[in-house]
Amino acid sequence: MVSDTTLDDLPLRDDLRGHAPYGAPQLEVSVRLNTNENSHDVPPEVVEAVVAAIAEQVPHLNRYPDREADALRDALAAFLRAQPASHGVPLTRGNVWAANGSNEVLQQLLQAFGGPGRTAVGFTPSYSMHPIITQTSGTAWVDGKRGDGFSLDPFAVAEQVRAAGGGTGADVVFLTSPNNPTGTALPLDVVEAAYEATRGIVIVDEAYAEFARPLGAGGTPSAITLLPGRPRLVVTRTMSKAFAFAGTRVGYLAADPAVVDALRLVRLPYHLSSLTQAAATAALAHADALLATVEDTKAQRDRLVAAMPTLGLFALPSDANFVLVGGFDDAPAAWKALLAHGVLVRDVGIPGHLRITAGTAAETDAVLAALAEVVVEEE
Ligand code: PMP
Repeated sequence: MVSDTTLDDLPLRDDLRGHAPYGAPQLEVSVRLNTNENSHDVPPEVVEAVVAAIAEQVPHLNRYPDREADALRDALAAFLRAQPASHGVPLTRGNVWAANGSNEVLQQLLQAFGGPGRTAVGFTPSYSMHPIITQTSGTAWVDGKRGDGFSLDPFAVAEQVRAAGGGTGADVVFLTSPNNPTGTALPLDVVEAAYEATRGIVIVDEAYAEFARPLGAGGTPSAITLLPGRPRLVVTRTMSKAFAFAGTRVGYLAADPAVVDALRLVRLPYHLSSLTQAAATAALAHADALLATVEDTKAQRDRLVAAMPTLGLFALPSDANFVLVGGFDDAPAAWKALLAHGVLVRDVGIPGHLRITAGTAAETDAVLAALAEVVVEEE
């Protein structure tokens, strides 16, 4: 059915008029380093376990899934408890909630704790879905400012959190660690300062936590360590990045059980399909195998960072699976030129910068070779 109707002809909400849909281009290119996915396929032993778990569910698809996703939440809590960066915080099922990607977890948080008359603050540049999820929930967005080198310090953050909402304080605070697109981890004193500065919810988006440098080597502990005694603090995670499971759409959070109760008020019943729950639970039983590529990815990230000065470019130190590269004369033109060389990266809208996901060794070879040519073309 063809139609001449445009968005302008529809009775769309006024606050959505003029907005563009979010989404990086999904192009068929040989080297795709634009959405911070894990470039490695799911390992065969995990494929086998997931297929078996799904096969068990299929005859019972006549029934709705477990609305509470108990088995999956048990598995996620056990995974978090075992992480050294969580410092043994005794998380259980009641502290964990899961949804279709951490985007849905964030959306549910805004549905429960944002809304008309409320304000959320985040610190730009950061994950560009934070303002979109905020605004589509009818919540006002405040674009917080960072210091030199995209840094955040506790005093500046606390001040901006207090000033939000015309001085009434932010109802929701977004912090991202490691931050997307800069790759930098956030010192925990910034999280503590934000928490003290508001009576609202403080969300620490840790989508890339598994790529952080180890605690003994300059790494920062997870904000999970701050959860005890802080019922308004929420840490979000995902299986889309380190777990190489983006296609399954599983994100989760760790928080006080009361936060989980709040999300039950807004989540759609049966929001996580039986197949999603089975696949993710089976995958988590093989977490070590799934996460085996994390060290390889970190090595490629470090290779990218180290190579940039040899190309006349510079990179910020990264605790994530991507690198923000600066020093381009014209980043959109460089993005196009890289695409012409078969390499898709991300123009995140920061003048002179492009974000490059760390993938396989062959992908690093390809992007470095393409960059060498593009930098020369730029001159
Ligand atoms: N948070 C951050 C910081 C991200 O970069 C992303 C994905 N790019 C997400 C959350 C959402 O990931 P997902 O919905 O796949 O869990």
